Amino acid sequence: MKVLISGGGIAGLTLAYWLHHWGHTPIVVERAPHGRLGGYGIDFFGTGYDVAGRMGMADQLAARQLPTDSVCYVDGSGRVTARLERRLLERVIGGPYLALMHTTLEEALGEAVRDKVEIRYGHRIAAIEQRPGDVDVAFADGGRESFDLLVGADGVHSVTRELAFGSEERFARHLGFAMACYPVADTYGLGPRRVHYNEPGRQTVLYPTGRPGELIALFLYRTSARSVPRRTKRRSALCSAFSDMGWLTPQLLAAAPQDDLFMDSLTQIAMPSWHAGRVALVGDACGAMTLTSAQGASMAMAGGYLLAQALHQHDDHRAALHAYEARLRPAVQQRQQRARTFARSLVPATGIGLAAQSTVTRLVLRDAFTGLLRRGYGDTTSILTRT
Ligand SMILES: Cc1cc2nc3c(=O)[nH]c(=O)nc-3n(C[C@H](O)[C@H](O)[C@H](O)COP(=O)(O)OP(=O)(O)OC[C@H]3O[C@@H](n4cnc5c(N)ncnc54)[C@H](O)[C@@H]3O)c2cc1C
Repeated sequence: MKVLISGGGIAGLTLAYWLHHWGHTPIVVERAPHGRLGGYGIDFFGTGYDVAGRMGMADQLAARQLPTDSVCYVDGSGRVTARLERRLLERVIGGPYLALMHTTLEEALGEAVRDKVEIRYGHRIAAIEQRPGDVDVAFADGGRESFDLLVGADGVHSVTRELAFGSEERFARHLGFAMACYPVADTYGLGPRRVHYNEPGRQTVLYPTGRPGELIALFLYRTSARSVPRRTKRRSALCSAFSDMGWLTPQLLAAAPQDDLFMDSLTQIAMPSWHAGRVALVGDACGAMTLTSAQGASMAMAGGYLLAQALHQHDDHRAALHAYEARLRPAVQQRQQRARTFARSLVPATGIGLAAQSTVTRLVLRDAFTGLLRRGYGDTTSILTRT
């Protein structure tokens, strides 16, 4: 089968790897000129770790982990009020856990498909026409080609979804938050810790990237806006959302880049169907769960693997797409639900909520509450080990 994959991120590259593995011909179009730069840290465990293991990548990823041994919560003066040790986090997750840069995972996936899969960087699709036997794709550079299947792996703001299913607003579920992040120089002596500082409705986070002297500053805040400002306005929007915020926030804002600031709303995608004819979606494009699930990358790998597996197991593409969706959808919905609940408790809206969060966090981050923490974290096990 000749399959066009729009998007060379986590889901797209995983899908490409497994399609090639099972004898198909995947072609990836990625709008970025080459692999993406910069990025943010991710917790990686469960199904994604399982798929990475099946691709022989687990040791390589473990060797490229972020140097974080704990998650700390601080007050305005930087005093630690609660600490989650990595050892406890691993017990809570109940299986292998890695702290990675998102780009590390993308790079490892890129290495896994190198010389096996054609990746056309700097390319994107512009229009599609479904026909009985194939799907005809027009590219933005004027080219045209037909494929047996088109898969949109182009993220939460998927163009493939827009072209085949309709506008984003039909499927978007806004959680009422936005985030921004960028790298900053470590002039703070942070050490191997991820540090969180909260005020009502907003949170500043700082952690090392693993590159000497570099940290990621991440900002999460409540907002009623459904979309984020255009690039040139993002810095001022962020500074205004975080004005008067304590701890290191003023210094971190002063280090914000003028243009290249990654900012997005926390938007989940919920669709009645993940496929239509010869077009299917995978990863955030059909099931975005947002960063508060801590499982989006992991489930994007699950999607890539399960879609390729279904196409391998079924001769008829319709049966395959149906089986893929039936297998994955319940797990995605369950994680989306938990991500919505967790977002509200992660960034309390009021001072009272914040005080309650601080008390609870101080109390429960210890071994005796592993069971309770595990319930709060949601389902962290691999869905591939279940029948
Ligand atoms: C700050 C932050 C923290 C997170 N933390 C975690 C975490 O702890 N654990 C976790 O598992 N997940 C986490 N996530 C979520 C995770 O990053 C996503 O769920 C995951 O990246 C989804 O993978 P994807 O391949 O579906 O989409 P993406 O990673 O968004 O990849 C989409 C790809 O498609 C490309 N593309 C977009 N449009 C087009 C187009 N028109 N044509 C061609 N190519 C296109 C993009 O350039 C990109 O390469 C976090 C996300 C953020 C933002």
